[in-house]
Amino acid sequence: MASKKNPHRDLSLKDDPAVTEIPLACASEPHAVEFLEAMRGWDTNPYCARCGSVNVYQMSGRDGSRNARFLWRCRDCSKHYTVRADTVMEDSRIPLRHWVLGFWRVCSSKKGVSALEIRRQTGITHKSALFMLHRIRWALADDNTKPLGGFKMAVEADETFVGGKPRHKGTKRNPRQSTKVPVMAVVERGGNVHLQRIPRVTARHLGKVLYERTDPRSVLCTDEHPSYKSVGKHFSGGHYSTNHSAYEYARGPVHSNTAESVFALLKRGLHGIFHSVSKHHLHRYLAEFQFRWNTRDIRDSERLQKAVKASVGKRLRYAESAP
Ligand SMILES: [Zn+2]
Repeated sequence: MASKKNPHRDLSLKDDPAVTEIPLACASEPHAVEFLEAMRGWDTNPYCARCGSVNVYQMSGRDGSRNARFLWRCRDCSKHYTVRADTVMEDSRIPLRHWVLGFWRVCSSKKGVSALEIRRQTGITHKSALFMLHRIRWALADDNTKPLGGFKMAVEADETFVGGKPRHKGTKRNPRQSTKVPVMAVVERGGNVHLQRIPRVTARHLGKVLYERTDPRSVLCTDEHPSYKSVGKHFSGGHYSTNHSAYEYARGPVHSNTAESVFALLKRGLHGIFHSVSKHHLHRYLAEFQFRWNTRDIRDSERLQKAVKASVGKRLRYAESAP
């Protein structure tokens, strides 16, 4: 049963009707189609994926059963479409049951799922699995630009280096030889996180992200990195920092431990699951981790529904690569 403190933490799978349907939807195409249609709300309120009209119907075969291609037809624009229409799944030939598995694994695994694992579980090629997972990550990319924080609310900012060879392998004189990439996290304490790759750890780049993504009335908490000094003046709630080099990690409410937890999870995922992530694709993994963090208080199946819904309106041609 759910505890009184946080009603979402103890949600058991037993209370979740979707969990019995997911294995079926991952194994059979008709179940996958129905499952995805239900996720889009088409089981109760079907609409045309082309024009939005609700004057639509499911096409049926000669024997009255469902059309072999699971087509729908719109009476207003007379177009045919399927549940793939207007989503990241359109223009892909990967069976929908594998898409369900991909979405499900991304939404239910704490640290994500690798393309190799999807390949083993579905039999599709590694390339197809990678294609599919990148599309899913693209669907999860948050286009919500509502600023984090607010009047007297604590916002933590921190940065870390991910990927590549050990940071100090390059010489001190030429640190740019390092192949690590700086990633910045901005977290509203108890709320959402924004993860972004930045070109370099400088006041200009850190500030740009903070100005864009936070409410200036917030209280900014960072470590002692000097670049935050000038940036901190922007915040009317004040700027407080802890001195990590003096082993000071928290002074009452002044800490950046939430941001550190986000990074800990991100790094365990990048190292343990994906092993190596190219700089070129890093933003997609960041989007995936950000999505999971920002939906951490809901059930896996609710997260899945959110993810499938987020994929609507994100159609890409097969040849196009996701941004
Ligand atoms: Zn239509």
